[in-house]
Parts: sequence; C-alpha cells; structure tokens
Amino acid sequence: MSVNLHDYIASVPDFPEKGIIYRDISPLMADGTAYRQATDEIVAYAWKKEVDMIVGPEARGFIVGCPVAYKLGIGFAPARKKGKLPRPTVSASYGLEYGKSTLYLHKDAIKPGQKVLVTDDLLATGGTIAATIQLVEDLGGIVVGTAFLIELTDLNGRDKIKGYDMLALMKY
Ligand code: 5GP
Repeated sequence: MSVNLHDYIASVPDFPEKGIIYRDISPLMADGTAYRQATDEIVAYAWKKEVDMIVGPEARGFIVGCPVAYKLGIGFAPARKKGKLPRPTVSASYGLEYGKSTLYLHKDAIKPGQKVLVTDDLLATGGTIAATIQLVEDLGGIVVGTAFLIELTDLNGRDKIKGYDMLALMKY
C-alpha cells in the first residue's frame, strides 16, 4: 500500500522570510515508509535511464540521491559549497535573490561519457540544479535526468532546465 507523500511535507508560512511558504521535507525523511517510497520512485526512474552515477548539491540533494545510489549499487558525488572539497575541483556559479553562490565538484567525480542523474529535494528557480548540471557537463558527463521530491511550479525552474528530462514526485 502506498502513502500520499504530500502528507509528509510540512508547509511553514513566513520561513525563512515573510511571505514565503517553506516546504519542509523533514517529516518525509523521518517516516521510514514515506522515505522509502519516495526513494523507490526515483530508483525506478534512474533504472529506466540506465544511470551510472548520481550527483546532488549540498545538502538535501544528498538526502535524496544517496539512498538511490545505494539501492542501484552505483556511486554518488556531492556538489559542495566553497571550501568543502579537498582536491581539485570544477566550479559553477548561480544567482540568488541577493548576490550569487558557487558550487564545486571534484574533477575526478565523473568520467567522460558517464550517464548522470542529478537529484535535489526541491526545484524552485532552478539556479541550483542548472549549476549542478553545468558541473557534470564540464567533466564530460551526460545528464540523462533530474529528480526532485518537490517542484514549486510558480517559479518556473523547469524553464532553466529545458531539454533535460525531469521527475518531480510532488508539485506545489
Ligand atoms: P533554486 O536554486 O531552484 O531556486 O532553489 C532550490 C534550492 O533551494 C534547493 O537546493 C532547495 O534545497 C532549496 N529550497 C528553496 N526553497 C525551499 C523550500 O521551500 N523547501 C526546501 N526544502 N528547500 C528549499
């Protein structure tokens, strides 16, 4: 029997700022059945795409991507913020509401030609996922899909990743 994953998302008004409704995935992660169901849906998607490797941005991209990698018996590479990765990296910057942020990936994280699934908890404006895709492609990886627990449809993040296949388990 499957559960309704929406029942495991806490919608928090005015966080982190007034006017924003924050979608908190903690209840989903805290429930073994819901977390496994969400993971299994992404596993099925990744299986069809014959994914070799998963890449997810810090930090909730790890929460979504790592159990999928474990289940498929493939690797996971973390895209991280400045100063976290100890060996040579590639980097990609993206705009935030105020200023910009940069993500890094170890240069040897992806081998050219590997088929990569990019995961994150939530798609908002698409900046984070577009930067993560750029890192993978800079290393010669082929992004065969993107997977999210949640898509915030009003923010049109989908437009930033046009041309890439996408799975979103929930939409708000
Ligand atoms: P984007 O770059 O698409 O604008 O923002 C997506 C990133 O911001 C994701 O890495 C996600 O973790 C975080 N994020 C933005 N809004 C929310 C939210 O309401 N809930 C959660 N869980 N993450 C959010």
